[in-house]
Amino acid sequence: MRRGFKAEAERTAEAIRTEMGKRASDPLDAVDLARHIGAEVRCADELTSLEKLETLEDLQPGAFSACTFSIGDRHVIVYSPLASAGRTQSDISHEVAHIVLKHEMKSVETLGSMSFFTCDPEEEQEANWLAGCFLLPRRLLYIAARRGLDAAGIAATYTVSEQMAAYRLRTTGVMRQLKAQQT
Ligand SMILES: [Zn+2]
Repeated sequence: MRRGFKAEAERTAEAIRTEMGKRASDPLDAVDLARHIGAEVRCADELTSLEKLETLEDLQPGAFSACTFSIGDRHVIVYSPLASAGRTQSDISHEVAHIVLKHEMKSVETLGSMSFFTCDPEEEQEANWLAGCFLLPRRLLYIAARRGLDAAGIAATYTVSEQMAAYRLRTTGVMRQLKAQQT
């Protein structure tokens, strides 16, 4: 990720959360976030059959999580009904991040009978990072960790995967900051 991107992403996420009327430690619903930035959200089973999605999942687990169809300024985020609630939150936030960062969908891949748009790896990293900032901004993590919540507690409170909570606690330096203050 380019220099300065991480701090910029924290600020972007904080600004959008504030526009949505969220306080620092409020949980965020990714569907609300998507609607706030003007995107539509559809569950994939509205567009294709659940059987087809299940077949695809058997073929390649996790192959389809979410994607965005963009026509001009109109963005439709489609997510899989087969993922956990926490995973869905990060998948939708990831798609929102692509839209906010104005990433262009570059190529189309097909798997089974379905097509996927993919971005370049650098843009994927950026979208992942910004998605984490939306759901678990640094200030929220700091408040939660000070209250004694660990990754599992944060995952349960904010409907994110435990993996994301642990990753954000580690990479934002929040745990380090708290430890430094205790000594
Ligand atoms: Zn992506």
